[in-house]
Amino acid sequence: MKRLGVIVLFAVSLFLLSFNSPVFANTASIYLNGAQLSAANLSQVEIVNSKVMVPIRVVEELGYVVNWNKTDQTVKIQNNSKTVAMAINKSSAYVDDRVVSLTSPPLLKGGTSFVPLRFIGEEFGLEVNWDNGTKSVYLSSEALESTPDSLDTTSANKGLIENIQFADNRLMINMDQSVQPEIFTMSGPERIVLDLPGAALADAFTLQNMAGAGSYQINIEEEQSFVSKIRYSLFKSDPSTIRVVLDLNSKASYQLSNAAGNSEGIVLDLFDPTSPTAPVTSPDTIPDISTPPTTTTTVPVTGNRLVVIDAGHGAHDNGTTGVSGRVEKDFNLTMALKVEALLGQEPLIDVVLTRHDDTYVTRPDRAKLANDLNADAFISIHANSVLNIPTASGTETYYYSEASKPLADVMHKHLIQATRLKDRKVKYNNYEVLRRSNMPATLLEVGFLSNAEEEALLFTEDFQNRVAQGIVDAIKEYFGIN
Ligand SMILES: [Zn+2]
Repeated sequence: MKRLGVIVLFAVSLFLLSFNSPVFANTASIYLNGAQLSAANLSQVEIVNSKVMVPIRVVEELGYVVNWNKTDQTVKIQNNSKTVAMAINKSSAYVDDRVVSLTSPPLLKGGTSFVPLRFIGEEFGLEVNWDNGTKSVYLSSEALESTPDSLDTTSANKGLIENIQFADNRLMINMDQSVQPEIFTMSGPERIVLDLPGAALADAFTLQNMAGAGSYQINIEEEQSFVSKIRYSLFKSDPSTIRVVLDLNSKASYQLSNAAGNSEGIVLDLFDPTSPTAPVTSPDTIPDISTPPTTTTTVPVTGNRLVVIDAGHGAHDNGTTGVSGRVEKDFNLTMALKVEALLGQEPLIDVVLTRHDDTYVTRPDRAKLANDLNADAFISIHANSVLNIPTASGTETYYYSEASKPLADVMHKHLIQATRLKDRKVKYNNYEVLRRSNMPATLLEVGFLSNAEEEALLFTEDFQNRVAQGIVDAIKEYFGIN
């Protein structure tokens, strides 16, 4: 089990190479360990000299103490081990007693103070990834996995809640081990209450959500959401029980499913009580988890399986750029073509690519192609990047719907064997191509182009052939084809 110390060290990075214009504003989503920050949700993010600048309230939501002095236009950011002091438009800053220079000093715009996220990340140990495709900032705690176990044993044998997310009327609670939830409703006002006996909040989760002392609340600002806010707290300490309360805008029915297979966590779908047999709201975005795929390794194949292979990015959208300048879109396309060639030799599998050349297909269109074809699986191929951590490395595999987790698991198993790189695990993320695909869908981050060694490796024929074969082996295992 992962346990984190009070002072957590995160690896840091930032990817921004696709920005050419010196300054522009953007609405960006910001995530910490896969969970979207609520303050950042509506935030304008400034891009200055290819650096992401965020309003100081975003830094507050990360759990740091932020002091803004309007008179002398200084901002002080603190945790319990470090103080960073900066001033508007000043290119030198203080880290405790040390003077450091900033390439992008804090700026004041429209009454909001913006601070450089990468710099703060470096100093406080947050890992920052910019995904230009989705205009999203991903803060991650990857390096936490290598920190030694905490001496704190109070939460031993508890299921640690790693994040709580709510989107499209689906609540997802990710945990490191499963617990048996108790669920009930309350009226006046309408609420759904979820008690999780034997659960505790992971330190990183507490950190990311520490908006104020003891206040844990996620405001839901989606339209057509049954939920206005989610509150959670330690309800009982013996046994440790976390209570999650969904405050409802209107009465809703729910369907609870423990995450399937070897995945720990809880999925709760809300739906209109007048159509209780139709869980899940938007059929074009959310797979119906009440009908998990019948395609397991033990089910005999009755007809050809159709797989859509998606080479990420394309044309003007390079994806990430490697240290030596090679671009992700080329790697992705090469891999997709290799997988297509191998699947062409499989009599029981049909394959369709979202792109065959250096063209751009929108993310919704990639998923739509798979949906229109009624494909049995959707596999999106990508390569990773972080700035400032040249050693960041490894392979990770993403899923969105619980129904996609078995595909992601089997894919990751084969991918790790093929890449022989660091195992960065199977992860949940709200990627658009995954969210919009109606069939089991997975997104592969094969390796890091920001790591010189890995970039070189990713463009070798031998590695690519191995990975293509691994992907094909995974598809065959998933469909039970020998
Ligand atoms: Zn990509």
